[in-house]
Amino acid sequence: MWRRLQTKDILVKYGIGIDDVCPLCQLTTETVEHLFFRCPYSHMCFRALCKKIDHSITVSSLSEFSSWISKPVRGRTRSQVLQCCFVNLIYHIWPQCNSTIWKKVIMLLDKLVDVVRSQCYWRIVGVLPSKTSQRDRDWISTILN
Ligand SMILES: [Zn+2]
Repeated sequence: MWRRLQTKDILVKYGIGIDDVCPLCQLTTETVEHLFFRCPYSHMCFRALCKKIDHSITVSSLSEFSSWISKPVRGRTRSQVLQCCFVNLIYHIWPQCNSTIWKKVIMLLDKLVDVVRSQCYWRIVGVLPSKTSQRDRDWISTILN
């Protein structure tokens, strides 16, 4: 799926588009790796989310992210919650590119992180198994609500 994203580097190869510069930072070529893992905007988003959910993740490439997401941390429920948060963050970074290009606006980091947390919270509480411990429920509420 990652390789199907029509990032600017790919569009330029197809002869579409006039430049390949990342619209979020204007510093370098927009590639999947740059956009989601190396762009200063994305990096700040990851840091802001980490701070809000009290979890640290350091990934600088798609392969590192894929490796991280496949390793459980702190139990199954908590792993899935953290995975949901970071995948949702990436999902929200992509539209920021289009918004920057077409609307000339970009969502503030705190707003973006709050949207990610809120969406994750409502999605997760809607599918939480009844056997989920109260401790994990409290943890989910603490980091996402
Ligand atoms: Zn960038």
